[in-house]
Amino acid sequence: MRREGWLSAIPLATLLVAVIAAAAQAPEPAPRELHFDGKRAFADLEAFVGAFGPRPTRSSRSRDVAKWICDRFEKDGVAARVSSGYVRGDPVVNTLAMFPGSTSRFLVILGHHDTVPGAPGAEDNASSVAALFELARALKGVQLRHSVILCATDAEESGGAGAEMLLFDLGKERVEMTDACIGLEMLAWPGGSPVMHAVPRNYAAVAKRYVPGTMPARMAAASPEPLPLGDPRFPLLAQAFTRTCSAGTGSDDVFFAQKGVPALFLSRSSLSHFYPHYHKDSDTPDKLSAEALHSSGRILESAVLALDDMPPSREDGRDYFLAGSLLFPQRLLTLAALGPMVACAALAIWRRRSDRVLSIAVGFAALPCLSVAIRFQPLVLLACWLPGAVIPLVSTAPKRWARFAVALTGALPAILLAILYTAGASMFGVRMGWGDGIPLLTMGAMSLAGLGVAVKGLRDAPAPE
Ligand SMILES: [Zn+2]
Repeated sequence: MRREGWLSAIPLATLLVAVIAAAAQAPEPAPRELHFDGKRAFADLEAFVGAFGPRPTRSSRSRDVAKWICDRFEKDGVAARVSSGYVRGDPVVNTLAMFPGSTSRFLVILGHHDTVPGAPGAEDNASSVAALFELARALKGVQLRHSVILCATDAEESGGAGAEMLLFDLGKERVEMTDACIGLEMLAWPGGSPVMHAVPRNYAAVAKRYVPGTMPARMAAASPEPLPLGDPRFPLLAQAFTRTCSAGTGSDDVFFAQKGVPALFLSRSSLSHFYPHYHKDSDTPDKLSAEALHSSGRILESAVLALDDMPPSREDGRDYFLAGSLLFPQRLLTLAALGPMVACAALAIWRRRSDRVLSIAVGFAALPCLSVAIRFQPLVLLACWLPGAVIPLVSTAPKRWARFAVALTGALPAILLAILYTAGASMFGVRMGWGDGIPLLTMGAMSLAGLGVAVKGLRDAPAPE
């Protein structure tokens, strides 16, 4: 009786250990009462769009827009001020409101008030300005540890000069004391679903550090409804894709990330659920709903309260996967990637001879470890893990159809990811460099190897007992 198939249990065991380790350190924020009222916020959204319509950057009405926002804050008894200046010769007008906290640390929440020319910008981004008003009402009377700065920024659509001016306004010291920054983008579309977009890996060349995983993990744990990272349907794939490729998502929050502040943006739009009226003259309030804004606003409020409870942290945001609110930092991923390698090495020792199946198995197992060790490539890790785990089973499956099925299971992730990678790269205009081409070639090779194992399994006679 051949028992090498049991070696497939090793990768599963290492994955299980990684899951338990991630669960053990998952944050458990105390449940807080939420006060965000989507109906009130939606009335503000309609009033704001009704008062101005399109609000392009550098328009003569930018100052009136900022003043209107300031007055709206003050009407609710929230202290606010207009901050105007020039960035690279262009006029910029932001509106700021601040809630003082009991410590010298800060949280920053951003929502841009400008639009592209011709678009009324109800979703992009009057929805976020309205969310700022309602968040301000919800935070009144709450004992905060951090001083919370709410800023309706100008000029996001023309390159982020408003966020740059805010950084200048705050000054180096206060930026260094800022523990988190949440950007807000498109929060009221009922066709979308709430999602966090963190600065992807390749922005790390621009951003000083990666966004530490603790920030999105805490927000996901505190959220009253599911709050995935990257995409509501394919969160793991989206995280792998945006970090392996140069797929750029980012709003005003990127400027804070560049200064080393943990920063991400909250939205109801993502690659698989994208607002169809984005930057069009049809971006009007009738496409949106108070219920959707209510849902986004409660997530925002819970995030602010959870981040306020978070101890100050500027830890380096190494790469990670976030599954639900379970955070898999790189060391846990490395552990999980070791599983397939150990299983295949054991298979090699067990059989004491090399054959084609075995060489492929060792290759599959070695690649994720190499990718983790050399340059963390989440797509390669995902594509290799399953094949590495099932190859020991392939070598022992008794019936040829069973061998075929098992091998195909192993090869499928690599095939699918290679297709997605290529399609994604052309669909989203991702710039492909050598660093991106290598995982693509690797996955192509793995797909072929996996298919080879599958076909071989189909043609071969069952292994002798
Ligand atoms: Zn926007």
